[in-house]
Amino acid sequence: MKVEFFGVRGSSPTPGKHTVLFGGNTSCVYVSLEDGHDVILDAGTGIIALGDRLVKNHADINILLTHNHWDHIQGFPFFRPIYQDNRKITIVPGAVEYDDKDAILAQMSGSTHPVKYQQLTADINVLTDQALNDTFEIPGFNVRTQLLNHPDGGSAYCLSAEGKKLAFVTDNELSSPNKMNTTWQQWLDFIAGADILIHDAQYIEEDLPLKLGWGHSKLSEVARLACEAKVKSLYIVSHDPARTDDELLSQEAKLQEEYQGRLNIYCAREGTVVDLAST
Ligand SMILES: [Zn+2]
Repeated sequence: MKVEFFGVRGSSPTPGKHTVLFGGNTSCVYVSLEDGHDVILDAGTGIIALGDRLVKNHADINILLTHNHWDHIQGFPFFRPIYQDNRKITIVPGAVEYDDKDAILAQMSGSTHPVKYQQLTADINVLTDQALNDTFEIPGFNVRTQLLNHPDGGSAYCLSAEGKKLAFVTDNELSSPNKMNTTWQQWLDFIAGADILIHDAQYIEEDLPLKLGWGHSKLSEVARLACEAKVKSLYIVSHDPARTDDELLSQEAKLQEEYQGRLNIYCAREGTVVDLAST
């Protein structure tokens, strides 16, 4: 199982000289298997560059969405395979708390986008019922889901394939003053022993209490969760748009020192490729 980070930024894209190292594109991770099966996690602006690669073939595309906040769907209108005739694209939306599970398509309607989704010639299916299932299969992968602690809801995903386990948990507030869909213990069970956990940690201590209840976690508590769950590697995503490369490097170094010998921990960088076969 190979994991490629195409977008690791939270909330809004952040081009600029202070974000060159970690990258400025919003949420998108590409997971591929040795047998050729693959899946895309989220459709933030990171999916645009991935589309430039995938447009060169005609294989079926599967996308799992965590939720419909803009930074998780805003790359889709610029994902080139949707303009390919009969390209089969299957989308599983997150378990959001509104009756708009097809928001990824609906954003291409009205006055917000020049090409309307009804004009697309690709064969696109949004499986709105699938979003409510705890487990399901997509070609090559067994998928388990868990409800996010996040405004408007959504789903975390655990993918199993080739004897490896990947957990994708963004956006998620581990200690929320709002209704908790999933407790600390339930997260421990969900991610237990994962080869790789990709988890949102947009905040540091100084961001709270102002941002309490906004639906993101602190770096320190995500590291603690990953360590307790005995995951092999933690890749932190959903970096705050205001966080510079220097600040992220400093946060990462602090955590790596604290967890040395217990947990491999990184702030994810756009462009990083992790081959779990060699870990
Ligand atoms: Zn969100």
